[in-house]
Amino acid sequence: MPRPIHASISLAALGHNLDVVRRHLDQAAQAASGRTPSIWAVIKANAYGHGIEAAVAGFSAAQGLAMLDLAEAVRCREAGWGGPILLLEGFFQPADLDLVDRYHLCATVHTREQLDMLAHARLSRRVDIMLKLNSGMNRLGFSADAYGSAHARALQLREQGVVGAIGKMTHFACADGTQGVAGQMQIFQNVTQALGDGPISVCNSAATLRYPQIAVAHGAQAHWVRPGICLYGASPFSDAEAATFGLRSAMSLRSQIIGVQDLPAGADVGYGATFRAERPMRVGVVACGYADGYPRHAGTGTPVTVGGVRTRLVGRVSMDMLMVDLDPVPAAGIGTPVSLWGQDGPSVDEVATAAGTIGYELLCALAPRVPVKRDP
Ligand SMILES: *Cc1c(COP(=O)(O)O)cnc(C)c1O
Repeated sequence: MPRPIHASISLAALGHNLDVVRRHLDQAAQAASGRTPSIWAVIKANAYGHGIEAAVAGFSAAQGLAMLDLAEAVRCREAGWGGPILLLEGFFQPADLDLVDRYHLCATVHTREQLDMLAHARLSRRVDIMLKLNSGMNRLGFSADAYGSAHARALQLREQGVVGAIGKMTHFACADGTQGVAGQMQIFQNVTQALGDGPISVCNSAATLRYPQIAVAHGAQAHWVRPGICLYGASPFSDAEAATFGLRSAMSLRSQIIGVQDLPAGADVGYGATFRAERPMRVGVVACGYADGYPRHAGTGTPVTVGGVRTRLVGRVSMDMLMVDLDPVPAAGIGTPVSLWGQDGPSVDEVATAAGTIGYELLCALAPRVPVKRDP
């Protein structure tokens, strides 16, 4: 028998969340008398831990898929995805352009070096690119000063038959916070407005949920949003839960109680004896630890569901196990199901908050040793 831990991935929840985002965008488009933008479902990092193949199946209704690992892009094609694929970091070396060409990938272009590589490439067809502007996050992209000449070079490459569509793209640093997107959006518009047609892409999950109106398409230009985390049913915000948007958690991490200790008052639990029983209590041992991807920084009090009842973690998380308070669940014993996060447990964001991090990190960090089951 394998250890009882597993992660369930709900394809229905992935499809449902995509629908929620689409309806949200439809409403914004209606209110602004424009067109609903297309959706690039972001599936980087093994689809935020959910598995590329599950994401290809669950997001079959998306217009495009976006990621940054070329091998993951190839897996999408092999899984039967025929639609657009966007590489969010583009290509890294000239040899990557062979894959870009063969698998018909759209590439973010954010450096002069990438334009040079394109100029020297021998390709069987034109490459569609998204030219990225650094509008203030100072991560990827051409500076506002350099963007115009990069765009002119891209136009030259188009005349030479190397480049196809030339899109414009940027990424927001503070769409989830009080600073918002207005400042970066203004820079994006100032820099790109005069540069002719082509697809536009600006919004991640936070911007898509909070500022959908900026993605509404008017006129000839196509708009694409790039939601990631919300499609998996987790929240991009620290002050709003995913459920408030009608999103459903797609990954459920489940295990079982594999040991029970009856403790007298004053007994300590786990490494470092960081938890002490104030009165006699029962503690359950769960087959799940930090080697499974559960955060070691989650301390006493982190929510966990045992036998359908919400209780709390006690003591330190160890490599393969963690301990829970069984007092609220007197019927629990060996084999009782435990939900660490997901549909029948706390949200991944609640566990993340208790561990001082964000749901993104926990989903991506699901360990390869955890078996993954696919729910319909
Ligand atoms: C990761 C990423 C996204 C998606 O971000 P979420 O916060 O998960 O919605 C969108 N665009 C780019 C460029 C990204 O790197």
